[in-house]
Amino acid sequence: MLSLRRKDLVCRQAVELVTAYLEDALSRRDRRRFESHLRECPNCSAYLEQIKMTIELTGAIEPEGLGPEARVDLIDLYRRWRGE
Ligand SMILES: [Zn+2]
Repeated sequence: MLSLRRKDLVCRQAVELVTAYLEDALSRRDRRRFESHLRECPNCSAYLEQIKMTIELTGAIEPEGLGPEARVDLIDLYRRWRGE
């Protein structure tokens, strides 16, 4: 379901995978791609840290805590960082 056909992740894909990554729901291949993207991309690394902080504050990855609305907010935040 989350398999990506492209060789390299672009930021938009990485953002979409953050939650699955933290839930350990990625395939090994996608996880590797995600992690290699993070190494090259300070923006996505910062974004992941932000999500981790959110999770620490809420205690867990919960549907209510990181639901679609929260995710949209974070993606908006991320876009502002990127200057989009
Ligand atoms: Zn990125």
